[in-house]
Amino acid sequence: MKERNLALIVMDTMRLDEFNRLEQRHRLFSSLGHAAFVEKCIAPSPWTLPSHASIFTGLYPSEHGAHETKRIKALDIDHIKLKMPTFVSELNALGYNTYAISANPYVTPIYGFSDFSHFYEESYFTDIFGSVVEVSDRLKPLVAKYRNLYGTNLLKISLAVLNNEPDLFLELLASASLRTPIAALKKIKAKVFEGWPIEKGGSRIVKRIKQEPLEEPYFLFVNLMEAHEPYVEKKGMDLNWATPFLKKGPDQKTINLWKRLYAKAASKAYAYAAEIAKTLLKGADNETMVVVTSDHGQAFGEHDFFGHGAVLYDEVVRVPLVLLSSRQVDKVRPGYCSLVNLKEFIMEYVAGKESMQKLYSKTVYAQSFGVPANINITNAIDIKKLRKFDRKSVRRFTYA
Ligand SMILES: [Zn+2]
Repeated sequence: MKERNLALIVMDTMRLDEFNRLEQRHRLFSSLGHAAFVEKCIAPSPWTLPSHASIFTGLYPSEHGAHETKRIKALDIDHIKLKMPTFVSELNALGYNTYAISANPYVTPIYGFSDFSHFYEESYFTDIFGSVVEVSDRLKPLVAKYRNLYGTNLLKISLAVLNNEPDLFLELLASASLRTPIAALKKIKAKVFEGWPIEKGGSRIVKRIKQEPLEEPYFLFVNLMEAHEPYVEKKGMDLNWATPFLKKGPDQKTINLWKRLYAKAASKAYAYAAEIAKTLLKGADNETMVVVTSDHGQAFGEHDFFGHGAVLYDEVVRVPLVLLSSRQVDKVRPGYCSLVNLKEFIMEYVAGKESMQKLYSKTVYAQSFGVPANINITNAIDIKKLRKFDRKSVRRFTYA
């Protein structure tokens, strides 16, 4: 059997309409040669973790279980993480070299994406588990339940850990005093020299792929975070999980600023994805395919909602899907495609078959099980609105 390389690039948080605008203006993907643009691709979930779990298992969130509920939220790692093997294990068994480079902390071995033979984190989100404190990867899941309860309140987290698990507290103290200064320096460097928060690691990912050749046959997964919030460097000025539920929503000036910065950040992710695809298509000895997509979109006040997660509007679940190949690509078909179908498509591709049809289903779904994160209830939060979104919903797309 002839060996085929494959890469999957996720431009995290890239809306379909934003991608189409960029491609119309710059034509970076069309100019790469053989390209197929799938117009009706639906993300199975409106946020990162369930959506990626669906891509890698070929199952909807209701089937793979790595999703939020009313009680289980994003930082409750033990309960929410992906607990089943992915197609990466199957590729390993076939002799593939499997690489992942992720800028998103939810797409890491900690959250269950542990099948890759090579995993590189290129994240600027060093503070997701502790605001100002950084600890080792081994300790992160152990402290996550406290983060889930107390958010970024360092004093409350520390007191609770000290009370319940004094040994863990000592371990955390030792790890944090070693790692926090390094993380702080990295953050300052990112802000001053690298253009954070618009730049979120993509530049380093491109550099790594250009400098370190992949051993063939390979499967490469890349997550580019540029289009994801934050967009504004100033604290308290950005959208976050709580924004849609504020009693007093953002003013038009702020919304316009977010939209402008989103467009800037998204164009970076778009350019990085095209650069990676170009590098891979030119550099390989074997036949190579690059699949470029997104895990969900982003709302900027449409339907009175901001950000992603919890809602299944077009702005949040319609995503781009592009297939690029070193040789002729099969024609796109009408009808709906879901990211859950990528697994079967990929497995057929590595088996040497043409299987564009595998991407499509008569009916595809988007599912939400509530608000992905714990929202700190303050006076600023509209509890009624929060409750309205913190529940299960399904949207179906059927091609007649
Ligand atoms: Zn995402």
